[in-house]
Amino acid sequence: MKIHEFQAKRILAQHGVAVPRGEVIERLEDARTVAQKLGGTVVVKAQIHAGGRGKGGGVKLARGPEEAVEVAHRMLGMKLVTHQTGPEGRLVRRVLIEEGLDIARELYLGLVVDRATGRPVFMASEEGGVEIEVVAAERPEKILKEFIEPGAGFQPFQSRKLAYGLGLSGAQVGAAVGFFTALYRAFEATDASLAEINPLVVTRQGGLLALDAKMNFDDNALYRHPDILELRDLNEEDPLEVRASEFKLNYIRLDGNVGCMVNGAGLAMSTMDIIQYAGGRPANFLDVGGGANEEQVRHGFEIILSDPNVRAVLINIFGGIMRCDIVASGVVAAAKALGVKAPVVVRLEGTNVELGKKILEESGLNFAVATGMKDAAEKVVRLAANG
Ligand code: GDP
Ligand code: MN
Repeated sequence: MKIHEFQAKRILAQHGVAVPRGEVIERLEDARTVAQKLGGTVVVKAQIHAGGRGKGGGVKLARGPEEAVEVAHRMLGMKLVTHQTGPEGRLVRRVLIEEGLDIARELYLGLVVDRATGRPVFMASEEGGVEIEVVAAERPEKILKEFIEPGAGFQPFQSRKLAYGLGLSGAQVGAAVGFFTALYRAFEATDASLAEINPLVVTRQGGLLALDAKMNFDDNALYRHPDILELRDLNEEDPLEVRASEFKLNYIRLDGNVGCMVNGAGLAMSTMDIIQYAGGRPANFLDVGGGANEEQVRHGFEIILSDPNVRAVLINIFGGIMRCDIVASGVVAAAKALGVKAPVVVRLEGTNVELGKKILEESGLNFAVATGMKDAAEKVVRLAANG
């Protein structure tokens, strides 16, 4: 799960990470008061779940309350387009107004779970502010890494290594150690999967602050953090993905045109692969789960068909715990209710497969039955191309 910058900063501050003073506002009327309270130059920052806001016009300096109101007026309600939002952009519903800082250096800090080593890794770079992806691709030696042994926790010597590596000296090393340690504490305490500070700034006065903050959380740990779950912003999520999550379906929208109805994450992955091999592109990942009932299957199918990009659908089910007749009944019910126009290719195997096929055949609906995955993928890709 993702949260907004202002929310991440609140959590980080609670764990002792230094962040700029600021307040988030939703109503334009509040811009003046907040800017007055902060005094001097302020920064107005669009709150959306996407990076690259600075380059897209979502981060602006304002010299005083007057200008802050003007900037907030332009920003609130705008569709902000960044390299992470796609061309349709994101509606800005809130802006964060912060004290303007005198920046001497912009550094990068990131904490993620490294899958290869199965440990958290602290990453730091002197080349912060800009797109860190570019630094990682072109100058990987500019990114320092410290792997953390979870049992022992993040060690002070690792903090110092990073601090010296970033070219900090004197009192800043102590400040950096405090900062990094607090960041790790926040990361660990919240079951975060990512905590990224880009940039971590060194001000002209010598202070160290998180100018930007991004946190993602492990969905599987959210049951331990009801306070974090409350921060979920459904406006920032794909509406179809939100619907799917209401029915406990594992659905991720993609940009192809072949809708995929599959059970089991592994089968769903290989289905997407084989669609690619056949020359097509999947419109979604969907794992209806091992023990889905007819209703979930129906909702899953409805969600696939609500995506206007879907030109053909592949139903690829292996009935283990899941029974093929349940899938068939769910699909037929949804197809009848929705008046499906897109062609549907079905590949069923496993428990009650004959009954499942019979239900589909007797439904009077137009399903093409495939023999095996390869055949299914080729058929559905051909249909999607013609549809
Ligand atoms: P992002 O583009 O979405 O990552 O948004 P950031 O919060 O990282 O802001 C982008 C850039 O705006 C930063 O790298 C800074 O260069 C600039 N910026 C943000 N806040 C301030 C500030 O208080 N003072 C100055 N001078 N620049 C700022
Ligand atoms: Mn940033």
